[in-house]
Parts: sequence; structure tokens; C-alpha cells
Amino acid sequence: MSKAAKPSLLVVEDEKDLAYVLASLFKKEGYTVHVARDGKAGLKLARAHKPDLVVTDVMLPLMDGHEMIRQLRVESKVPVLFLTAKRDEADRVRGFQLGADDYITKPFSMRELVARVRAVLRRAGRAGEAQYSVRAGGLEIDFARHEVRVNGKPKHLAPREFQLLKLLIEANGHVLSREELLKTIWGYDESLGISTRTVDQHVARLRRSLASERKRIVTVKNFGYRIKAP
Ligand code: CA
Repeated sequence: MSKAAKPSLLVVEDEKDLAYVLASLFKKEGYTVHVARDGKAGLKLARAHKPDLVVTDVMLPLMDGHEMIRQLRVESKVPVLFLTAKRDEADRVRGFQLGADDYITKPFSMRELVARVRAVLRRAGRAGEAQYSVRAGGLEIDFARHEVRVNGKPKHLAPREFQLLKLLIEANGHVLSREELLKTIWGYDESLGISTRTVDQHVARLRRSLASERKRIVTVKNFGYRIKAP
């Protein structure tokens, strides 16, 4: 299977607790996350890791967010989302002049931040910058656009089928137990009366959707499923 590149994010935030919360949140969303706590370290990490998106505070020690992005812009078009406590209009204008893709004012809701990050990555993906797609034989999955193709033909997957496929791909050929899948996708709760049979039913549906690529989903008897690389 070709490389399943997760989008990588660089978070530059000097408030320790917020940096930690943001890193956990983005990891949970499936991104690779690097964290810097000042502008100089941010610049260094951006050069080293070439992230798909930089989420940065403006007020930072050693070098502020604007200066960091100004320097980064010389060599990179990486999308930038500024986080800031400043509500000042001039400040936003400066940010956009530096090529900010979005601006979010503290305090913000985590849900809003996640949505904005996705939107920026999606736009960047359209411009052909961010890469988050996987190809295995005739199967192509574009995670940013939520698109699946089999031999070039678009397939419509229900959200849970898509999630199932995504988890299997991220497991990179390792077996995932039905319980694991149930817990992750359905947030397993015994009171809901869902059984591992639900997983089997969705796998069956997913296989139907994958048509000629159905054999990529391998049943591991009495245990779970894995995906087969070409
Ligand atoms: Ca700050």
C-alpha cells in the first residue's frame, strides 16, 4: 500500500495547558502533531517537518507568530491558522497580509477549531498541497475529500463504512478485533445492545461497495479484520 500520509500539523503555542490540549485534540483527529512553545522553535520545527498546516498563536516568546510566518513564507506556502487573543482589526489585517489562511480568536470552541483546520486542509488539498490519500491496486481513498474510487469509479460509502475502511487502512495490515472496531466506531456501550455482529454486517456492506477490491478486506477468523496491501 502506498504511504497513508496523515496530515501533519505544527502547533506553536506558549501556554502549556493549551498546547497540550490542542496536541491531544489534533492527535485524536488523526493528525501527526508537532508542538513548539516559542516562535524560534516553531520556525525550526516547520523547516524540519514541513507540516501540512501551522496553527500558531500570535503572542509568543522569542519571536512572535507574525514574524515566524513572515520568515517561513520566504520558503514555504504552508497554510497557516492564527490563534490569537487579540481582537484588534489591524492585527488581523497583518496576519492576512502575511498569508494567514484563517484567524481564530481566543477563546474558541474546540469543535470550531477542528472544523476550521479541516476546512483549511481541504482548501490546501484542492490547491494540490496537502496529501492525504491512499492507493492500493484499484482502490483509491481521498480522506480529505471523503472520496473512494474503485478503478477510477466513485463509490458512495455510508459514514460508518468509510470510518471502517479508514481504521483498517490506518492499522496498515494489522488485525483489528471486532470489539476494537465496535468500540471505536460505535462508541460501544452494552446498554445499546449492539453486538460484534453489527461490525460483520458493516464489513459485508463495505465489501459490496468496494466491488472488485472487496478482497482487500480480509477476515481473520474468530477475531476481526485486516486490510491487504498489494
Ligand atoms: Ca501566547
